[in-house]
Amino acid sequence: MRGLMMEDPLTLLPIFERVARYFPQQEIVTRRPDGTFSRTNYAAFSTRVRKLARVLADAGLAPGDRVATLLWNHAAHFEAFFAVPLAGGVLHPLNPRLHPDEIAWIARTGGDRFLIVDDTLWPTFDRFRESVPLDRVWQVPFAGHPAPACAVNYEAALNLAAADFVFPQLDERDAASMYFTSGTTGRPKGVVYSHRSLVLHGLAICLADCCGISRMDVVLPATPMFHANSWGLPHAAVIAGAKMVFPGSGATPADLLDLIEQEGVTLASGVPTIWLGVLEELRRNPSGWNFRAPVRLLVGGTAPPENLVRELDRFGLRILQAWGLTETSPLGTVSLLKPHMREWSEERQYEARSKQGYPVPLIQVRLAGAEGEAPWDGVTPGELEVRGPWVASAYYGAPESADRWTPDGWFRTGDVATIDSEGFVKIFDRTKDMIKSGGEWISSVDLENTLMAHPGVREAAVIAIHDPKWQERPLAIIVPREGARPSPEDLAALLATRFDKWQIPDGFIFVDELPRTSVGKIQKSHLREQFRDWRKDHPDPSPRK
Ligand code: ADP
Repeated sequence: MRGLMMEDPLTLLPIFERVARYFPQQEIVTRRPDGTFSRTNYAAFSTRVRKLARVLADAGLAPGDRVATLLWNHAAHFEAFFAVPLAGGVLHPLNPRLHPDEIAWIARTGGDRFLIVDDTLWPTFDRFRESVPLDRVWQVPFAGHPAPACAVNYEAALNLAAADFVFPQLDERDAASMYFTSGTTGRPKGVVYSHRSLVLHGLAICLADCCGISRMDVVLPATPMFHANSWGLPHAAVIAGAKMVFPGSGATPADLLDLIEQEGVTLASGVPTIWLGVLEELRRNPSGWNFRAPVRLLVGGTAPPENLVRELDRFGLRILQAWGLTETSPLGTVSLLKPHMREWSEERQYEARSKQGYPVPLIQVRLAGAEGEAPWDGVTPGELEVRGPWVASAYYGAPESADRWTPDGWFRTGDVATIDSEGFVKIFDRTKDMIKSGGEWISSVDLENTLMAHPGVREAAVIAIHDPKWQERPLAIIVPREGARPSPEDLAALLATRFDKWQIPDGFIFVDELPRTSVGKIQKSHLREQFRDWRKDHPDPSPRK
């Protein structure tokens, strides 16, 4: 017997129409490059989305055409998030922090036909413009600059357009947007989200047992909207009818704190680096900000060090750790304590919160161990595999990467993890960052976490260096806190309280900053290259094993 329910397609249209109808006065705020604010609301947003859809249709947008964006986080980007897929196109945010040749390669590989670009990013676009055949380019006057002759002024185009556009009927499996992976460990690959996957992912984000986004929230995406589906926040905010606050570009930690305070932000997203900067700022000026409501910080991309979680708690900023990849839209797991864990000691609770948590509804995980599925005992590592309705089933135009999926259809994440009896996933390392010394694995993540608990350490990265005897040995690269000079002996002694002797890095190198990827992750491949010959200059490894 079949169910007798309507089968309305899960497209972005009903959630878009609902927000305009029921929350027209909810605000959308953008911090401009000069530090001033522009304010609009969902009523105006709705009109502008229809106008943008009309502009695209008039330019000849055909179903499935890719519309690229080269934009910072602001209201116009938010408009494109809805107008492009609702008009039947595919939104393709490009990452302006990549090398122009790489951006061009991604735009060509994605098959981009149109582009919407910020005036402040025009110089970047200019460097690859010739190598991407685009039919039309609109320039957003984000900083108020006039459009060059070869582009159309975005605001002028919207002003001229009628707001009567009737959105086409779409299939929920139609492509809605496309993102390339950020390529921390390899060549970027295209992931194509469908309307259905975006709607389901957005709904999951709104669950109380996930990010709990509601109409009462004020959401600040500090993660770039060109990275990993903007972590799903634009869709979740529209589903909930939440106020949006966009930080524009180049917001400093103090600017972010000002925005949180002044706009009453209740949920902000960002990689740990952003919040490390915010913590430094709060330490310098502990009574500088007064938050109206408790603030949740959605943190992912890399593991937040445990002391960051602890210290931000003291300032009323509560980290909610989530794990995922571009390929998982990105939400996979969230680290939320279960009711019985409230009885646990504070120490044990922090330990649980520093893990990546358990899957949100509809997502499943398993561990591929050396011999079949690894047990959930919290100690046996395996490669984390994942499946669910917002997990990619293939890369765009990359059949050679089909081996990232198992024969029974699970996605191989490339993350090595353990899972404990509560189901909490703990990311041990990325397969490409693992350190194997004398046949045994060492977790760089665990070493980094402990090092960052030292009061003199701002950041730490542990990498593998080649060793003639042990194959690989760990080497720690340390960014000291301002004015601090921790000694290698101190750091080794701290590690010795938690690790066996053979797991302790052979060297501690002090640097001013760590190389980062375009989305703020530590670029370990770069460090491995930089310190490739370190052993040659330090030939006396004290045998650890
Ligand atoms: P890239 O693979 O290029 O870094 P993604 O942004 O898709 O691009 O990164 C996904 C990866 O980020 C995951 O495979 C995982 O290694 C890492 N990651 C994401 N969230 C977390 C987290 N909370 N803790 C540890 N690692 C994380």
